[in-house]
Amino acid sequence: MRVIFLGAPGSGKGTQAKRLARKFDLDHISTGDILRNAIKEKTPLGMKAKLYMDDGELVPDDVVLGIIKEELTRRKKGFIFDGFPRTRAQAEGLETILRELGLDITKVVNLDVPDEMIVCRLEARRLCRNCGQEYNLKTRPPKKEGICDICGGELYRRPDDTAEVINNRLAVYRQKTKPIENYYRSKGVLVEVDGGRGFDEVFKAISQAVADPK
Ligand code: AMP
Repeated sequence: MRVIFLGAPGSGKGTQAKRLARKFDLDHISTGDILRNAIKEKTPLGMKAKLYMDDGELVPDDVVLGIIKEELTRRKKGFIFDGFPRTRAQAEGLETILRELGLDITKVVNLDVPDEMIVCRLEARRLCRNCGQEYNLKTRPPKKEGICDICGGELYRRPDDTAEVINNRLAVYRQKTKPIENYYRSKGVLVEVDGGRGFDEVFKAISQAVADPK
């Protein structure tokens, strides 16, 4: 199974993708995580990506497609893309890469969440520096403030989860990413999921959608 998760920042793509990857034994490939890791390691890729990410802008298509090509060449399992593709050029580039590898996309899940909910979610989001577990200070707070329930790691707020950068990320999403819904709709692989419901309910809807052979 090869799945793409589309949806605005804060639509729940990451959390749902991780859970779906466990359920169907798939690789979870998040370009955001790969880029954040490169920043942490201070690699040349990280240094370049940081300039864009700090402002909520997209990292250039050729850089992201290079990452994906490398990931797909070395991985052998099915996968879920979380946060990729984000532009029409990335969607087309992916198609070329997959064709070369003799693969195709099974389903594209579009998580639809109202903007007001997204801003609330992102402002309240905290992550564990150690294991990456996600919390929400309002709806899913940690038992002990600032500490991860699972591993005891320190919780932090992503530097791009501030009001100003969130607004830019949403504008970039609307302008550059939203149009690729139509690209996948015309290929007959897009499924719409209402992501504004509770976590378990959304997960159930996604699981059914990706397993549906239609
Ligand atoms: P995310 O963790 O998916 O919210 O991504 C965080 C940031 O990483 C984005 O705001 C972009 O700056 C960058 N990024 C992640 N994935 C991509 C992508 N597919 N294309 C361009 N930039 C990306």
